[in-house]
Amino acid sequence: MTQQPAPPHLPTLGILALQGAYEAHARTLATLGVTTRLIRTPDQLLTPDGHPSIDGLIIPGGESTTMLKFLERNGFLDSLTTLVRTLPTFGTCAGAILLANDVQNPAQISLAALDITVERNAYGRQLDSTILTAPTKLPGGPLEMVFIRAPRITRTGPQVETLATRDDFPVLVRQGHLLAATFHPELGHDPRVHQFFLDLVSSTLSKAISDVGSFENTSP
Ligand code: GLN
Repeated sequence: MTQQPAPPHLPTLGILALQGAYEAHARTLATLGVTTRLIRTPDQLLTPDGHPSIDGLIIPGGESTTMLKFLERNGFLDSLTTLVRTLPTFGTCAGAILLANDVQNPAQISLAALDITVERNAYGRQLDSTILTAPTKLPGGPLEMVFIRAPRITRTGPQVETLATRDDFPVLVRQGHLLAATFHPELGHDPRVHQFFLDLVSSTLSKAISDVGSFENTSP
């Protein structure tokens, strides 16, 4: 019998489901055929042998202060801080605030992974929730963006690429394996931002597989 090649590893994405808009992310990912797992406790992040149990993580929008309160229990914040150093992670709105190195208005602690400064609730009252269409570097033309009490990214570090802006401030940024949006792509009708994150997860996975392959080829 001829041996069949191993089927490609399809990514499983975790969605932090402590509070906020996590169901909408699960729905968008389902339309892209992705398997998702809702993450509510730190032990769900790792397999028994200590490897990440998911190939990527989404930290949804909601209220970052409330999420932090949940994360401060059971060592969740520490586990997540370590994991997002290497695991592809996409933060939307409050999730972007949690990923940022520097949080202002007011200052609060974070996972400190993404080299940006964010100012919380930075758009005035009238503009605090709005839907607009703006250009993006993602293929496929302008993108619909839903903003809800959004933060403003006021500084990006040298490793951070800006993929879309609103009034000249970045609203979609990437730094290596990390992606952050100050709007809610899961509440719009356009799956391109999720698809972009999925491509980022897949390229990280295939790099990991080829790294293992080259290690095996060089080992005696
Ligand atoms: N204003 C919220 C915060 O500061 C974020 C809002 C959102 O996620 N839509 O955490």
